[in-house]
Amino acid sequence: MPLAHLNIGSNQGDRLGYINRAISLIDLMAGRVVAKSDFVESEPWGFDSVNRFYNVGVNITTDLEPEKLLDKLQQIEREIASEPHRNPDGSYRDRPIDIDIILYGDVIMSTERLTIPHPHMCERDFVIRPLLQISTTGQFPGLNQ
Ligand code: ADP
Ligand code: MG
Repeated sequence: MPLAHLNIGSNQGDRLGYINRAISLIDLMAGRVVAKSDFVESEPWGFDSVNRFYNVGVNITTDLEPEKLLDKLQQIEREIASEPHRNPDGSYRDRPIDIDIILYGDVIMSTERLTIPHPHMCERDFVIRPLLQISTTGQFPGLNQ
């Protein structure tokens, strides 16, 4: 079964509570959670806010194709908090929960909805640190190591 790496973040409200709830729902609805990183705390990336983020990485095994997995993760995001992630002008805003697909097996793909590996992963310390902590291979598809 494919192994995927997800990154879950929150900078609003009960941050750790929302993230733990997301992990439970992912395990229930999207795949088996087989590894979980430590939490990392960081400043917002790409926008200004006084609210710091917590992020965590998880490895899951899943039967769902990438697009179906994204559907499930977005359903889980909406179940935890219904607020939009972006302002009307497209800029980032505070968010109770954000779940991104970072890697999916050795898949490299880009559609309107979904790019894998996640296009910003290498610029984001809060993605790379959890990933390196629980990566089983240390090898990442499509990236210049
Ligand atoms: P961020 O880029 O910080 O995750 P958003 O959560 O607001 O910002 O972006 C969500 C959009 O990103 C979704 O509409 C989704 O279709 C798109 N997207 C593209 N690639 C991915 C990916 N690998 N994981 C999650 N969402 C993705
Ligand atoms: Mg997202």
